[in-house]
Amino acid sequence: MTNMLDRFLKYVSFETTSDEASESCPSTERQLALGNYLVEELSSLGIEAEIDENGYVYGRIPGRVKAKKTVGFIAHMDTAPDMSGKDVKPRIIENYDGADIKLNDDFTTSVKDFPFLKDLRGQTIVTTDGNTLLGADDKAGIAIIVSAVEEILKDPDASYGDIRIAFTPDEEIGRGADKFNVKDFGADFAFTVDGGPLGELEYETFNAASCKVEIQGKNVHPGSAKDTMVNSQLIAMEFNSMLPVNERPEYTEGYEGFSLLLSMEGSVESTRMSYIIRDHSREKFEARKKLFEDIADFLNKKYKDRIKIEIKDQYYNMREKLEDHMEIIDLAKAAFDMAGVEPVIGPVRGGTDGSKLSFMGLPTPNIFTGGYNYHGRYELVSLDQMEKSKEVVKNIIKLLVE
Ligand SMILES: [Zn+2]
Repeated sequence: MTNMLDRFLKYVSFETTSDEASESCPSTERQLALGNYLVEELSSLGIEAEIDENGYVYGRIPGRVKAKKTVGFIAHMDTAPDMSGKDVKPRIIENYDGADIKLNDDFTTSVKDFPFLKDLRGQTIVTTDGNTLLGADDKAGIAIIVSAVEEILKDPDASYGDIRIAFTPDEEIGRGADKFNVKDFGADFAFTVDGGPLGELEYETFNAASCKVEIQGKNVHPGSAKDTMVNSQLIAMEFNSMLPVNERPEYTEGYEGFSLLLSMEGSVESTRMSYIIRDHSREKFEARKKLFEDIADFLNKKYKDRIKIEIKDQYYNMREKLEDHMEIIDLAKAAFDMAGVEPVIGPVRGGTDGSKLSFMGLPTPNIFTGGYNYHGRYELVSLDQMEKSKEVVKNIIKLLVE
């Protein structure tokens, strides 16, 4: 059997950074190399696997017995564009002592910045060399899923029903679920294995929208501007000043929603602003979008139709869909329990592929991988926690035939 660590190290050797600026799917060709490799690996394990024209990898495992439901497990192949994922040089620390980890001459993962390090004492951890991200997000998830199904397939005594697995491109740029073929996947529900530390079990995400604001000013020579000039930048500042100051990301946590001014670009003649709007509550989410519209209406009256806004919903809180299927969460809790892992349930202050998939008809909560400090050079993963996650995956499969 390939060990899970070797498998993980192999996956992170593929550069799979996604690219928001690209319109193709996958957004970067290089993700296909990992996708093709995974198809080969799954095939070598006797799993019927294929990669589709959009770079999605699907695997199907027919059951030995009939299960109550068909479960799917999903992880993503791309890594965040925030930092290079090329030439990743992982460092393995066995029996970690809980102290500062010097990555290289310039960067140290310190206990002062990351107090959770103390909890990892005695575990085997994998870090970067400080020059790239690690890619545990979400190649740890892929290694966990492949290792779990390998162990089940090779265990002559294991009894399991139909299992589906999928590895998606472009999760980090918010498109991981877009071209997911829910119908052909054929699962009743699924889990993304894409969470953080031990115990994470997530089924609540934000409701999310983007809002683009365009303001048309009127630029004339400042010397003769009296009663003529309209400075679009000042209207933009007025627009922003009408949003509640205390409802920004830097002042909110838990279930508190926010709006964020992502970018602003302007001149006297015209100004564009780009916002995101987030809230766990659908009602408050709708109210937040309404506030943007109301501000635009007010300023359009005041300045005679100079403001255009475009609000687009991005994804919704999967809780809305899972509330009718709480047996899936109960199943996960029981699987955690069997592995001796206390579930840590909390709202995600973001979205997961599962948020979209749940609204596409595939309820998909998220479980932990054992990774920390995603998207940067301080990323690390605990192999011990990956083992626990693998146990949870196997337990879910087991519980479905009991
Ligand atoms: Zn991820």
